[in-house]
Amino acid sequence: MLILKGIGKVYGIGRVLIVHKLSFWLVAHDRILTNNRRSRWGVGISPICPCCGSEDDTTLHVLKDFTYATQVWIKLVPSDCITDLFSFDCRNWVSTNHNNRRNKDPNSKWKTTFMTNCCYIWK
Ligand SMILES: [Zn+2]
Repeated sequence: MLILKGIGKVYGIGRVLIVHKLSFWLVAHDRILTNNRRSRWGVGISPICPCCGSEDDTTLHVLKDFTYATQVWIKLVPSDCITDLFSFDCRNWVSTNHNNRRNKDPNSKWKTTFMTNCCYIWK
């Protein structure tokens, strides 16, 4: 996170926006530092989610399938799009939500809502 904060200062533009865009890039490319990812480095870390202990700690588990994340998305995504929410792999889930409006308020921008909620769920 120190690196991301530094980039925002160096370029002198909205640090929050840069952090969100870089964080979102990590999500879109399945590169956030989950236990599943760290376990593949052979450093003796369990790939299992430390919160629920029942699933691998993957990007999709953290941001979509974990109980808290699921509750967030169910409140935001219209009921006719809920099936889509739970049927995609990571890349398709991100690209679908990044390119489409999927919320209850037709006047708001779903892309921003989606990116912001991914960042806040990750924190
Ligand atoms: Zn979990």
